[in-house]
Amino acid sequence: MREASRTFAGSRLSKSNERFFRAIKESAHRESLLVDEGGPVTEGFVDLDIGGRLLVISPHLDDAVFSCEALLRYARDVHVLTIFGGDPPPGAPMAEWDVQCGFGADMNVMEVRREEDARALSMLGATPIWGDELQEGYRTDPADRDRIVELISSTVDSVRPSHILFPLGLSHHDHLLVAEASEVVARARKLPNAFVYAERPYAQRRPRVVGQRRHALRASGALLFSERLPRGIHRGDHSAIRCYATQLRGLRMSAFRMGFFRERYWHISWRDEQES
Ligand SMILES: [Zn+2]
Repeated sequence: MREASRTFAGSRLSKSNERFFRAIKESAHRESLLVDEGGPVTEGFVDLDIGGRLLVISPHLDDAVFSCEALLRYARDVHVLTIFGGDPPPGAPMAEWDVQCGFGADMNVMEVRREEDARALSMLGATPIWGDELQEGYRTDPADRDRIVELISSTVDSVRPSHILFPLGLSHHDHLLVAEASEVVARARKLPNAFVYAERPYAQRRPRVVGQRRHALRASGALLFSERLPRGIHRGDHSAIRCYATQLRGLRMSAFRMGFFRERYWHISWRDEQES
């Protein structure tokens, strides 16, 4: 009897794994059908392990590491600007998301999240810069895009990056806002080494949105070329992703699953830049 139940448990486990890997294959296939990769593949990240300075724009206190862990580990000089790092106003009711992440009413949510971020970025040798904008769920007024543009712009002035990397803008209002604000800065300053990343886990959970967002960017005059990760880059053991225990709990996802999907990047420029 004991033997039988063990076999049963084992077969359930392997079926669940089978389903997981089949879902990965299917979603990768669906996405490849949606948008033709086409065009040249650029290699703008090569040598970031020996020189250059990378500024990564992260909407929340986890997105840069969730989405770009291997690249952050590879690049030598990395600064991560998190836009929505601000504390909720005192006495504000706890956001539903924070409850889902396991926070209790007496906890300082953002302090815990900044500690998670500091730990993860120190493992990757990156420097955190925390903005104090309020994330969705804490805001009573609409987010001020001009203020976010100003924050990114002043950070570019102080960090003076050779490369800037920002989110594609998937699934979440805060992400789209940060993507648009970053685009404004990159275009206004004609930054030559501008790149976007596909945010995990949204890219793997809803691969269709990756294609839709790339299509929208192209329609607005952007030129996107797939960016190849440098040879020799290591995915690692996802230990930096694991630092964000509260967020992984809210997402109901393990660090392994998050890191299993390949990191995806595109070089971004704009047609009007090339014509001028
Ligand atoms: Zn986020």
